Amino acid sequence: MASMCARILERCRERENVTFIVTPPTSRRRRPFAGKRTQSTSSPNRVQSAPDFRSRSGQAGGPPPVAAPKLRDVPFDAAVVAASPFTALGLTVPLVRAVLDEGYTKPSPVQAEVVPLVLAGRDVLAMAQTGTGKTAAFVLPILQRLAAEGPSSRRVRALILTPTRELAAQIAERVSVYGKHLSLRHALVYGGVSQRGQEIALRAGPDILVATPGRLLDLMQQRIVTLDAVTHFVLDEADRMLDMGFVHDVRRIGAALQSKRQTLLFSATIAGGIESLAQSMLVQAARVAITPAVTTAETVEQSVVFVSRADKPALLERVLREGSSGRTLVFTRTKHGANRLSERLDRAGFRSAAIHGNKTQGARERALDSFRRGTTLVLVATDVAARGIDVDDISLVVNFDLPNVAESYVHRVGRTGRAGASGRAISFCDRDEQSLLRDVERLIRRRLPPWQGEKPIAVAPAPQPA
Ligand code: ADP
Ligand code: MG
Repeated sequence: MASMCARILERCRERENVTFIVTPPTSRRRRPFAGKRTQSTSSPNRVQSAPDFRSRSGQAGGPPPVAAPKLRDVPFDAAVVAASPFTALGLTVPLVRAVLDEGYTKPSPVQAEVVPLVLAGRDVLAMAQTGTGKTAAFVLPILQRLAAEGPSSRRVRALILTPTRELAAQIAERVSVYGKHLSLRHALVYGGVSQRGQEIALRAGPDILVATPGRLLDLMQQRIVTLDAVTHFVLDEADRMLDMGFVHDVRRIGAALQSKRQTLLFSATIAGGIESLAQSMLVQAARVAITPAVTTAETVEQSVVFVSRADKPALLERVLREGSSGRTLVFTRTKHGANRLSERLDRAGFRSAAIHGNKTQGARERALDSFRRGTTLVLVATDVAARGIDVDDISLVVNFDLPNVAESYVHRVGRTGRAGASGRAISFCDRDEQSLLRDVERLIRRRLPPWQGEKPIAVAPAPQPA
């Protein structure tokens, strides 16, 4: 499990520096996890995706689908595919090729459990934390089953519900990636944007529909979408859907589906409402619960400060001054952010260095070396770069940005308090990072107490140029 998490984290490092932008599928798509991919989406429109819902200006629809290049004819190493543990789960060549292209070497625990169950047609209730690879756990087997059921019938056969538009867009992107060697179509609908583009996408007859509940109900009421052919129904992030008050919408959507269907429910927690939702929606469901193998050390004193992004640098200087800390490791989400912060710390008189993936091996080693020797006391790092840091006595970890993936928090904090030594970890949380903080707290199963500085944070000192 630990090594799996590490691997997943390795994939997640590719999130650095990249934001997700939804663009019509025929344009070159900027991906949430841009990175070394062999043949991923470098040429557009591999998947015959239904025309997308909107352009960035909110205008309707993209151009109609273009015939997919004959990707199935691209040569590949059949022996590698056959030997992959994904093949052992029962997945077929097009899907295994897609995950291998993504650099996945091994299924995550939730994938290992859920994929065979879904392929066997079972209903599944799965509990696993954020960042454990749940999307592939349902997308891969559903793609396989739809492909096996025959060519596109131009009706929605799989419906994936998720609470927010960001999650919906991410899932749709994964459907493209994992389904790139198949000819299935998908569409994405969510609220807050014009409906016209989504109507066009739906008219193109997607096999898979990824949706948020409110907009989907609107479209159902207007009879723009019919769901009577749905045979696979996924409730992703069910606990968040309940939190956000979507329970009635979800139940109404469920009631509109035929009862002869497969239903999968994914949730990070088994809060009260989930059990009863599962009871009413699932039939003889298999239960899968993946407990996190990672926890933070008891010896690390952890806390959180709510602070606006703009005030974070000044707060960091204050923490460094007050803490009379020894070695401090500061985590930023982006490489650029790491550089900027390190420069600012230097100007303020703190000897610091930044390490991240863009630096040469030599530069990284020099930075690490001076950190080890104590010439620099503050190291600013991104998650991926930090994996190579083997320094024992780090007394303070600062999460200057909260990690996108909760597991990273545990790995970051694990840099201090090693071998029973005491350590501290302080997380800076801006208003728009509160959901990330919740993910962290859910993962470590505790609330982070507020940081107790010497003075109230409102009077964080102004930066002092050196
Ligand atoms: P969850 O839905 O559980 O929060 P995601 O499905 O969003 O998690 O996956 C988290 C990250 O892990 C993604 O970047 C995904 O590409 C990556 N990932 C998923 N499965 C694997 C795997 N088997 N090996 C490596 N990385 C993976
Ligand atoms: Mg997810």
